[in-house]
Amino acid sequence: MKAIKNEKQEIKIGNKIISSDTFTVIAGPCSVESVQQMDIIFKELNVDIIRGGSFKPRTSPYDFQGLGAEALLILKDFKNRYNKPVISEIMSIEQLDLFDDIDIIQVGARNMQNFELLKTLGKIDKPILLKRGMGNTIEEFIASAEYIIANGNKKVIMCERGIRTFSNEARFTLDLACIHAIKTRTNLPIFVDPSHAAGTVELVEPLALAAVAAGCNGLIIEVHPNPNEALSDKNQQLTIEEFNKLKTKVDNVYNQVK
Ligand code: PEP
Ligand code: MN
Repeated sequence: MKAIKNEKQEIKIGNKIISSDTFTVIAGPCSVESVQQMDIIFKELNVDIIRGGSFKPRTSPYDFQGLGAEALLILKDFKNRYNKPVISEIMSIEQLDLFDDIDIIQVGARNMQNFELLKTLGKIDKPILLKRGMGNTIEEFIASAEYIIANGNKKVIMCERGIRTFSNEARFTLDLACIHAIKTRTNLPIFVDPSHAAGTVELVEPLALAAVAAGCNGLIIEVHPNPNEALSDKNQQLTIEEFNKLKTKVDNVYNQVK
């Protein structure tokens, strides 16, 4: 591996710096569902960066597939009105032009080894949040980051989101050792997504706090104004109130370990 031990990157997003020694929280709904939903999120969710899925990688083709381009337009509109950076997931190269106004492009777990997509994202000047595939080793995860970096884009943010193991207590097994591995083998920031690992609301807090204690550089958490009515991942999305309580605990833990 060549590029990965590059000089440390300071990724400036809005008034935040994401790097291997800062801490940033991203939150928002699994999917952008409507203008009304995002209006509540932008008004009430106090967080550094807002997430919102547009093109959704759903296991079943009969499940809600996301609002696609319309979701990105909704994000753009609110981002400009509230001056708040946004992140959304890309699923194919053809969608890239639609992401012009999106601050961070997410590559989801299912696309971690979509090498043509990674090469294309390596040629643009925009931060990429790269999620670890649920069946991929840390070496493969790092090699995928290398695909983006080797093509010229050094603004890569790694994200552990749980892997498949024999444990069926959570939706996926959050690999906390991944945080240390990425910190020691690369100069890249490592985020953790406790929501997709947890699968249920009750598990989000313990996983989030453990990840912060283990030294991650940020969290990406699913929050919905009314999780019961969510069109995707309803069991794991926190209410805004639940998120606020968790955020206080996250800040406390971060202040102890930083
Ligand atoms: C998501 O963040 O919306 C998502 C689908 O996550 P993952 O790729 O980690 O499953
Ligand atoms: Mn989700």
